[in-house]
Amino acid sequence: MAQQFKEIGKTKTIALVAHDHKKEELINWVNDNKETLKQHRLVSTGTTGKLIGEQLDIEVIRVLSGPLGGDQQLGAMIATGSIDLVIFFYDPMEAQPHDSDVKALLRLGVVWNIPMACCPAAADFMITSPFMQTTYNSLLTDYSKYLNRKIE
Ligand code: PGA
Repeated sequence: MAQQFKEIGKTKTIALVAHDHKKEELINWVNDNKETLKQHRLVSTGTTGKLIGEQLDIEVIRVLSGPLGGDQQLGAMIATGSIDLVIFFYDPMEAQPHDSDVKALLRLGVVWNIPMACCPAAADFMITSPFMQTTYNSLLTDYSKYLNRKIE
């Protein structure tokens, strides 16, 4: 079968999410990279997006708060091709009430070969990548065997 790609355009849709103890870190990172981020579309879970909107002069589309379904909304957007990059500063030191949603979001990012940065250093590497200025063809795994499997 021919290889399939998802074309990530020059203007990217970037999901921004941070757990509570990581929100300040993400807001500072967004502030440091505001001019670059303004060239793209930003989507955020409810509280993260609210804080970014209040504290920085930057437009962010908000979905529900993560624990109320926002992580799942972002996961669905990844699966349907409407998110290109994910910046998700999750808290590695504290269990979340919505751990299963967090895991699902990260899992779908890998299923659909979405670049994901989960700490400021990774986000720095991502935002300075030459692919931020160009289109990029992201290779999709061939799941046809999975779709056509026999159920006994
Ligand atoms: P929040 O959600 O931005 O609404 O706090 C973040 C998360 O997924 O925990």
